[in-house]
Amino acid sequence: MNLNPLIEISRRYGADSSYVLLGGGNTSVKEDGILYVKASGHALGGIDEGGFVRMDLSKLDRIWHKTYSDDDEAREDEVLADMMACRLPGETSRPSVEALLHALLPFPYVVHLHPALVNGITCAQKGEEAMKRLFSDALWVELVKPGFTLASVVRTRMGDRSYPMIFLENHGIFVGSDSIEGIEGIYDHVMTTIEGALVRKPDFRAVAYDALAVDSITTALEGAIGQKVLFETNVEVRSFVANAESFGPVASSFTPDHIVYAGFKPLWVGVGDDLMGSYHAFEKEHGSAAKIIAVEGLGVFSVGEKPLPLFLDTVAIAVYSESFGGPKFMTGEMIEFIRNWEVERYRAQVTNA
Ligand SMILES: [Zn+2]
Repeated sequence: MNLNPLIEISRRYGADSSYVLLGGGNTSVKEDGILYVKASGHALGGIDEGGFVRMDLSKLDRIWHKTYSDDDEAREDEVLADMMACRLPGETSRPSVEALLHALLPFPYVVHLHPALVNGITCAQKGEEAMKRLFSDALWVELVKPGFTLASVVRTRMGDRSYPMIFLENHGIFVGSDSIEGIEGIYDHVMTTIEGALVRKPDFRAVAYDALAVDSITTALEGAIGQKVLFETNVEVRSFVANAESFGPVASSFTPDHIVYAGFKPLWVGVGDDLMGSYHAFEKEHGSAAKIIAVEGLGVFSVGEKPLPLFLDTVAIAVYSESFGGPKFMTGEMIEFIRNWEVERYRAQVTNA
């Protein structure tokens, strides 16, 4: 099978931050009973043939006739073991956690991405309504646990219909088509349609800021954490950090990617608060350190380079969602699940390597 067209489109979308950030998203193609699906831990933007795992589609189909444990962890282990056994001989990589969903969709090409524009709908109070109004052949799938649970819910919802677009609440979109050109056409349509329905867009223009205050906070954080700390502010960020109340729409997690790379929520530091005291208290309370530190009236500090683009994505999603009833975060229960999920720990660890 010539994977070049799939590799080319994977790299193009993977390198475009308006479609996906860091290691997120995955792609696949099916031919002659074989699924070629992205391996976990490979970034789409730089993928090559070695980033895809070959899997036996008829073996994958047998997973639907098995019974798995009701316990989350036991079930994930069982399904992962079965998925590994569906790989063709010689394959050593771990397939994407969404491989089952790729296998299920009745299209040769499937491209799954997390565009901020799309998540402006999937993470909005009236997202489902908006999707139905804007797209006639799209399926909405509510927030459920990823992997096997998600695939099995999609399987039930689809029934005998085939949907070229599946919107996943608080996650992103799956697009399927007979050809690469078909995929591109659907993505163009999705992006322009949502853009046309916006009441406003995020304003990322530069603003002046207190450089002395930023330097002293950066030095204090870098000294305590031992990692590079970046600062960012702009018109939109400044308006969200104006006070604790205005920070609300960006104060939690919209999707699993945000949790994995930017932490499950930013640390909020108000005017007059002890910044380092707050940083240590956050870590003690939540068992993990903050990756984004928002300082009232100033902007945000990112611990390392990765959290920042995800936080700016959160800002974009929050603004886009204003056009569709306002922002809606993942539920607290689902945030806890993702924080503790082995698959995401694996993904973060491989991508950080
Ligand atoms: Zn995804």
